[in-house]
Amino acid sequence: MALGLKEYRARQAEAEARREEASKPRVQRFALEKDGDSAVVRFGQEMDADAAGYTEDAGIGVVHIFHVNGDDPKNGFKNAAKCSKEAQGDCYGCDRVSDYAIEWNDRKGWKQKEKFVINLIGGEPREVVEKVNGQEKKRYYTTDLADDHKGGTVYLLEQSTYNGIYDALAAFFLNTKASKETILGKTFQISRKGSGFNDTSYNIIPVEDLAKDATPLSEFELVDVQEVLPEVPYAQQDAFYHKGSASAPAAASEAPASAGSSTGTEDTW
Ligand SMILES: [Zn+2]
Repeated sequence: MALGLKEYRARQAEAEARREEASKPRVQRFALEKDGDSAVVRFGQEMDADAAGYTEDAGIGVVHIFHVNGDDPKNGFKNAAKCSKEAQGDCYGCDRVSDYAIEWNDRKGWKQKEKFVINLIGGEPREVVEKVNGQEKKRYYTTDLADDHKGGTVYLLEQSTYNGIYDALAAFFLNTKASKETILGKTFQISRKGSGFNDTSYNIIPVEDLAKDATPLSEFELVDVQEVLPEVPYAQQDAFYHKGSASAPAAASEAPASAGSSTGTEDTW
């Protein structure tokens, strides 16, 4: 291949655009940067199959019941899987947390956790470059949906059921006079309170009726909320949870001195 200046530069620009595209996250996650930040969004699916706007195509936002590696308070969250007690009759995480011979502090990391996962639509992500351990890392934060409610970016909201969003949204939905039994008919403003890993909560309030000519939800490609966490066969769960962890499972059940400082944080982004 021999290229003149124009062709060579076009080729370079193309490669740059490809790199840029590849560095974007595959799934855009709902995120607000700091205390006081907010975004106005609309939801992409209902939270109940009986809701007025339910369609089989969009499905519903769900609460995942799951476990993380409770032997590793620092990095255990990286190995997370659905609780399999109901689906498989057995669950390694449930086994560990109910091992009453062990001190509570040394097994509480295996408690069931909950997170609410639902698709929503906001404005274009705002890109921020942060330095993490001397390395530049791009982060993307959610912005307001356009005022005419047209277009927008799909975000996956993945938040603990304890931090405010789930309860407030459920209360809105169940207040049928306000909601008309759907969370799809209005826009919502979600605001962040607190900036720490353990003291962050969210407020969510309905803002206005969705414009009649808002982009139909069927035009957005939603993320499959079931795929967010794996369902691991029981026999493989011990290995799955401890993969890449310093604490071997056998040693951990004898002297897990490091497991006592679990913060119990539910924040999973
Ligand atoms: Zn379980």
